[in-house]
Amino acid sequence: MPQPPKSSTPDVSTLAPYFLGAFGENNDLFEQVLVELVRDHVYWRRNFHPDDTPPISTAAQFDPAYQARVAGMKRELHRLAAQLKRSVPTFHPRYIGHMMSDLLLPGLIAQLVTTLYNPNNIVEEAAPVTLALEHEAGQQLCRMVGYATDGTQVPCASGHLTSGGTLANDEALFLARAVKLAPLAVREACRVTNVWLEPTLEDADDWTLLGWPTARSLALVHRALRAPELVAALQAARVETLGLVRFAEAHPLTSRLVVVAPASAHYSWGKAMRLLGFGEAQLVLVPTREGRMDVGALEDTLQRLEAERRPVLAVVGVYGTTEFGSFDELHRVAALKRQERSFWFHVDAAWGGYLPSLFREADGSLRSKEAMATTFRHFPSERVHRSTAALAEADSITVDPHKLGYVPYGAGAFLCRDRRAFELAMQQVAYVFATAADDEARYRNAGRYSLEGSRPGAAAAAVALNHRVLPLDHAHYGQLLTRSVQACESLYDQVPVLREHLAGLAHVAVPFEPDCNVLGLAFNPVGNRSLSVANAFTRKVFEALAVHPADQSGGEAAFFGSCTTVPLKHLERSEPGRLAGALELELEAPDAGGLFMLRHTLMNPWLLASPDDSPRTWVDAYVTHLESLVRSLLR
Ligand SMILES: *Cc1c(COP(=O)(O)O)cnc(C)c1O
Repeated sequence: MPQPPKSSTPDVSTLAPYFLGAFGENNDLFEQVLVELVRDHVYWRRNFHPDDTPPISTAAQFDPAYQARVAGMKRELHRLAAQLKRSVPTFHPRYIGHMMSDLLLPGLIAQLVTTLYNPNNIVEEAAPVTLALEHEAGQQLCRMVGYATDGTQVPCASGHLTSGGTLANDEALFLARAVKLAPLAVREACRVTNVWLEPTLEDADDWTLLGWPTARSLALVHRALRAPELVAALQAARVETLGLVRFAEAHPLTSRLVVVAPASAHYSWGKAMRLLGFGEAQLVLVPTREGRMDVGALEDTLQRLEAERRPVLAVVGVYGTTEFGSFDELHRVAALKRQERSFWFHVDAAWGGYLPSLFREADGSLRSKEAMATTFRHFPSERVHRSTAALAEADSITVDPHKLGYVPYGAGAFLCRDRRAFELAMQQVAYVFATAADDEARYRNAGRYSLEGSRPGAAAAAVALNHRVLPLDHAHYGQLLTRSVQACESLYDQVPVLREHLAGLAHVAVPFEPDCNVLGLAFNPVGNRSLSVANAFTRKVFEALAVHPADQSGGEAAFFGSCTTVPLKHLERSEPGRLAGALELELEAPDAGGLFMLRHTLMNPWLLASPDDSPRTWVDAYVTHLESLVRSLLR
C-alpha cells in the first residue's frame, strides 16, 4: 500500500546548533560556553573590590571539619543527580506526550548563567539588566501577535512575564474587572466631587457603562486618574478598594457578572474565577464543535445573558487548546465585540502563542495563506489564518514561553493591547508621573503592577536570548515551529494507513482534526459498541506509552504519549453522534461520560529525522510501534 507523500523537511542543520540534542550531540559547545560564562561570573566577583580580604579563608578549606561538610553536601548533590535520572526524557524524539521537549540552548544557558547573578525583576534597582530584557521580550511578543508598540500612539501595547499561563490568565481577569468596573467608579467619584469629566456620564446607568467598549473605558479612566480633584474619590469608589461585596451593594448589577469561555478552556479559568471572588458558577461554558468554540452558540449565549441582564465581563477565546491545539475562530469572536455591547476580549494563547511567528515576515507584516501553504500539506487552514490576524483585536493575550518558546519553566507572558489598562493595577496614582518619560519608565517596571512580586530575572534573560538568536518571524523562530507542525501533519497523514492496517481489528479515529501540532487518537475494537469498553481499550494502549512515576527504571518505554478525556456534555449537540459514527459506538445518553483518547504533542525538532539512517522517520517508527501495540493488546 502506497505511503502518503510527506511534507518537505526543512534543512536539519539550521536548527542543529541550538539544542543540546537527544544524545547530547552539542555537549562540547554547551560545556564550553557554560564553563566560560561561569568562570566569567567568578571573575566578576573577584574584581569587585579586589583589595578586600575574602571572608572564607583559603586555610579554612583544608580543615577536616570543612572537608566533612563539603563531603556531606556533595553526597546530597550526587544523590539528587541520581534521583533525577528517573526524570521523563522529554528531550528525545521518543517523547511526544505533554507540552514539553528539548530546550533552546541560548535560553537554557542564559537562564543557568543569569541565575548566578540572581536578579529580581521587581524593580530596576534590583535588576537593571534583566528588567530591560523582560521589556524587550514583552515588546517582541506584542509585535508578533500584531499589537502596536509605538509609545507615542494610542493604543500602545505592553507585555511582561509571569510565572506561567495560569498567572497570566489571572492577570487578564483582574485587569478585565478593573477596566470594566472603572467607569462605574468614575461616575461615583464625579458625583461625590461634582466634577463631571464627561457630561454623558451623569445620565448613563450601570448597564450602559458595563457595556462600554474597552477603549472608551480606558480613555475615561486615563483622564480621571490624572484629575487631582477626582483621584481620592475615585480610589475610594473602585472595586479594588471596596471589594466585590460592597461594590455590588453600590452597583447591584455587578453581582450578576459572568465570564464566557469555551468548554475547551484550560482549568486555570475556573481557578481564576474562584481567586477573584466571582465563583466558578459564574463561568459560562460555550459548547465546542470539532474541538473549537461553537461561535453560533456563543452568540446565543450572549443574547440570553443580555435578556437576563447579566453583564459580560469578558469573553475568552483559545488560540491552541491544551487538549488538541484547536484554534477558536477569533475573527468571529472579535466581530461580536464590535457590536453594540462590548466585553473584554482575552485570548488564551498559552499553547499557540508562538505560532504567529510562522505568519510573520521579518518586517512584521502578515504572510498570505498561499505563501505559507508551500511549506505545509494542510496548515494553515483559512480559519487558523484569520484567527491569527484577529489576535491584534484582542484586549489581552496569554502566551507561555515555557511551552512553544522552548525555555525552562517559570516563563509565561501577559500581553495587553492598550497599556493604559495597567494604570488600574499600579499602586501609585498616575498624576505623580508628570512627564511622558516618567510614563515610559513606569511601564518598564512591570514589577510595580504585575500580580506577582519578586520575579526571576533569569527567566527574562532566557526568553530574550531566544528571541535575539531566533527572531519571531517565519525565517527564524518559525523554522522551529515549522518542524513541529510538519511532524504533526506526518502523523496525521499516516492515520489512514494505520486504519487500513488495523481494518477488521480496531477502528481508529482522529476525533478532532488538528489545527497545528497536537493530535488526538481514539480506538475501538471491532464489534464493540460500548463507550466504556472502547475507553478501557484505548487506556490500555496509553498505559504502554505512559510514564509510571513509581517505576524506578524509568525511560524504558519505546515511546511516551499522553492522554485526555473529553466530556461529551461539553460538546455541541451533533458532536457525540459524529464521534460515535467515527468509532462505530453507541452513545446512549448525551451525558454518557467522556471519550478517552491518546494525545500527542509533536514538539521535538527531530521527529522527521531518521532513527536509523533509513528513510523512515521517528514519526513512522511511532506509527509502526502503535500498530503492533494495538495488535498485541487485541490478542
Ligand atoms: C498550559 C495552558 C495554561 C496554563 O499555563 P501554565 O503555564 O501551565 O500555568 C492555560 N491555558 C492554556 C490554553 C494552556 O495550554
